[in-house]
Amino acid sequence: MNSKKWIDLHLHTLASDGTFTAQEVLEKAREAHFSAVAITDHDSVRALEEARFHGEKFGIEVISGIELSAYHAEQEVHILGYFFDDKNVLLLEKLKEFQSAREKRIHAIVKKLQEIKINISLDDVFKLVGDGAAGRLHVARVLYEKGIVTHPSEAFKRFLSYGKPAYVPKEKISTWEAIDMIRKAGGIASLAHPVFLPQEKLIASFVQEGLQAIEVYHPEHSSGVTDHYRKMAIEHGLLMTGGSDCHGLAKGKMLIGSVRTPYELLEPLKKRALN
Ligand code: AMP
Ligand code: FE
Ligand code: FE
Ligand code: ZN
Repeated sequence: MNSKKWIDLHLHTLASDGTFTAQEVLEKAREAHFSAVAITDHDSVRALEEARFHGEKFGIEVISGIELSAYHAEQEVHILGYFFDDKNVLLLEKLKEFQSAREKRIHAIVKKLQEIKINISLDDVFKLVGDGAAGRLHVARVLYEKGIVTHPSEAFKRFLSYGKPAYVPKEKISTWEAIDMIRKAGGIASLAHPVFLPQEKLIASFVQEGLQAIEVYHPEHSSGVTDHYRKMAIEHGLLMTGGSDCHGLAKGKMLIGSVRTPYELLEPLKKRALN
């Protein structure tokens, strides 16, 4: 029996664009033998309470998490936050503002789709959104369910990504603002899936802005890429995080369990959050 302990610090629920409830995520985490998880919904901390409740039941540590989308020029950069106070008033106010901007953005996206004769209704999208934070993945799923695309990722390639006909940016905050929001709420800011960065030299500037960690383990990181970011972390004095970025079944495949991050990385993150 392998006694090594594992964590998954990048998980989405119905509170944003995942398809599982917090309870279901914790059940999957138990099946995959994780000792600790962080729920990192886009712009929402709503699932944390339910996640903690089930985590306690299953003996799985639940860490407060969030994923914020920032922009560097036109480029999207995702910043993960951990160990912050999820009752922080300033943070909660900002998240509420982001969520309502996300709703307006869905209206704009659906309108742009209609302009190119792709007729989906707001109702279709908001049925999937429920009371979660609305995102492009919800639109992609509607396009998939209606047979307009053969996979949700095709919806991004054809319509929803930067430069495509139904692209609408989110309310724009800078990487510095995202990092600052997390740190002011007592958390650790980590750069999500660095493999998607347009230029790697940006990492140094994010460190200047207060970035404290980098996501080394991610399903889009091959073992060579993982080694590379581990070296980058050491070079820049960054702590390491990792997770599956599981969105339930929203992207087709369920990713929880596909990436295993060593538990040892958690202690230094915790210590840093306390300082
Ligand atoms: P949003 O927060 O609305 O900007 O949407 C971001 C979400 O879309 C994240 O969950 C991403 O993982 C997902 N996403 C972005 N690009 C793609 C893509 N090419 N294929 C599938 N999902 C994507
Ligand atoms: Fe997402
Ligand atoms: Fe992301
Ligand atoms: Zn994510």
